[in-house]
Amino acid sequence: MNRTAQTMQGLSLPDTDVLSEQVTVALGQNPSVFTGPGTNTYLIGTGPRRLLLDTGEGRESYLSVLESAIESAGCQGIQEIVLTHGHRDHLGGVAQIRKRFGPLRVHKLRYPDFDDPHDLEANPLSSGDRIETEGATLCAHHTPGHAPDHLVYVLEEEGSMFSGDNILGVGTTVIPMETGDLRQYMNSLEHMLGLSPKRIYPAHGPVIEDGCEKIREYISHRMARETQVVECLKKKSLTPIEIVRIIYASYPENLYEAATQSITHHLLKLEQDNKVTRGSSNPTYASWTLI
Ligand SMILES: [Zn+2]
Repeated sequence: MNRTAQTMQGLSLPDTDVLSEQVTVALGQNPSVFTGPGTNTYLIGTGPRRLLLDTGEGRESYLSVLESAIESAGCQGIQEIVLTHGHRDHLGGVAQIRKRFGPLRVHKLRYPDFDDPHDLEANPLSSGDRIETEGATLCAHHTPGHAPDHLVYVLEEEGSMFSGDNILGVGTTVIPMETGDLRQYMNSLEHMLGLSPKRIYPAHGPVIEDGCEKIREYISHRMARETQVVECLKKKSLTPIEIVRIIYASYPENLYEAATQSITHHLLKLEQDNKVTRGSSNPTYASWTLI
């Protein structure tokens, strides 16, 4: 998580960029250690009104960036809003955009905990649903793990994919303690690989030209980490922070808190796989033992 943040911190991207005949990006104007250069929001299609995929977090300066992206894309406005998931840096701009462009329809996978506070009244999507606009068809795929309501979208005309937070332009995806599940995430990566995306348009960072190669890289990174965790536990029972002190020995200590979260997720996945048990209920502080 922190490595991602640090890698992404120094990265800057243009506010708007025409990425293909069908895709133009508008940067959400919300740079931070967690969002890197900010959230990418994408105008999709070739007609006068485009789909807008994700909305940033509602920064005031975003509206003029979106307007200039609309101009660069050569269209007049927005047809509908499509969301990858309910984290604030993706959904937070909906109200602002509706205020400026009218009561646009919003599509996302239903998840009451995220949706209700925002009074979204979103059209509920499920895996396999298609959203169409002139020149573009998006097909939704449920890919939980980073968030339970996470959808990636295949742009059928290009064979490309909007990966949301599941694959990023730089660094690795955070599996949050509250909404994350590493086992689901790994299954989602396999699902995404099975869709054989050419290009990937991530929610943060630059376009990825070889989508499959990047997904394989993400899978092998997590599998290598899991192997390291198992190796540590072969010697004795350990708590997550004790494992972090071994695996991340050469890293600065200010990364340890985030690393502990990541290692805890690995242990929870291994527990679901019936490979480890824990000595107490709180996974972060429990001592873990190999079965
Ligand atoms: Zn997210």
